[in-house]
Amino acid sequence: MKRTVIALNPARPALPIPDTESAGRPVADRRARALRDLRISVTDRCNFRCVYCMPKEVFDASYAFLPRSEILTFEEITRLARLFGGLGVEKVRLTGGEPLLRRGIERLVAMLRAALPGVDLTLTTNGSALKALAPALAQAGLDRVTVSLDALDDATFGALNDVDFPVAKVLEGIDAAAQAGLAPVKVNMVVKRGANDHQVVDMARRFRGTGHIVRFIEYMDVGSTNGWRMDDVVPSAEIVRRISEGFALEPVDPNYAGEVAERWRYADGAGEIGVISSVTQAFCASCTRCRLSTDGQLFTCLFAQQGYDLKSLVRGEASDADIARAIGAIWQRREDRYSEIRTAETAKARKVEMSFIGG
Ligand code: SAM
Repeated sequence: MKRTVIALNPARPALPIPDTESAGRPVADRRARALRDLRISVTDRCNFRCVYCMPKEVFDASYAFLPRSEILTFEEITRLARLFGGLGVEKVRLTGGEPLLRRGIERLVAMLRAALPGVDLTLTTNGSALKALAPALAQAGLDRVTVSLDALDDATFGALNDVDFPVAKVLEGIDAAAQAGLAPVKVNMVVKRGANDHQVVDMARRFRGTGHIVRFIEYMDVGSTNGWRMDDVVPSAEIVRRISEGFALEPVDPNYAGEVAERWRYADGAGEIGVISSVTQAFCASCTRCRLSTDGQLFTCLFAQQGYDLKSLVRGEASDADIARAIGAIWQRREDRYSEIRTAETAKARKVEMSFIGG
């Protein structure tokens, strides 16, 4: 059964609720990292089959996606997000899978906005439905979007998304997002050597001067289905070098401590780019992110092999204070630093798929 590729202790017992840690105040893990960011996967489904994320051979017609009953409802997501807010979370990102496939996503945005008025509320999307949904998402209180786009020519993009989705439709989505005020729009390009690295400079050129920020992401060994090899990774230093051969770049200070992307700006004032070097320059030491999977498991690392079942608590008798204490205790025990200790061997470990825990 293909589901076993990602199933993570589905029968894992409900978490014991500690009675020592106090609920509702900021927490730090064993490496003194605060809990600041929450990524919520709202669906494990996607309409793309990106070869580096949801390869067709695995995620095919026989693949067992989560049944509706296992998926957190909007009310459950909002309740948990509010509790995370009490523990220090300042940024919430909706992702997946493809989050815009979740029907009524704008209603969830509105619920989160009401529950967490001060939080930075964003969403990562492949852009396929963004043209239609951008106005409603903005109206509901979304702050910004990140749109994934791996190439500007249809042949390269189609070979990567593996469903022949056209570039033009994603560009329309980006325009619609900017018009709706979901700006600055960030454009994520995963760079895989031999697949799309020849598009790096074109991408930089295309978005220079638009106000959008392209972020070049090193191809990562997330999950266990993409056949990752170190040779496929294009180091960020090489990306910066290639772009700077055409356009002079200057480093920019991070917007805040622990920012994942390293920022560079065009010396002529045409905007900025970012590089995300999770393979060649691990940023575990400042990682303040956790992930809530579509079925309500909490993961404290993108490369985790197991999660913690919050859904049983949410659907059981646990009070808000109980759940907050459980989350706080999980975070306080956190030691993850996968990218610092990555080797060819660890890359083969059976890790959870990104579509399940949220990219
Ligand atoms: N469907 C949405 C999208 O396409 O943006 C959200 C989910 S997707 C998993 C989130 C981000 O993770 C995308 O920008 C995607 O390109 C990136 N991603 C997926 N697999 C990756 C990998 N193996 N290495 C680096 N980035 C990856």
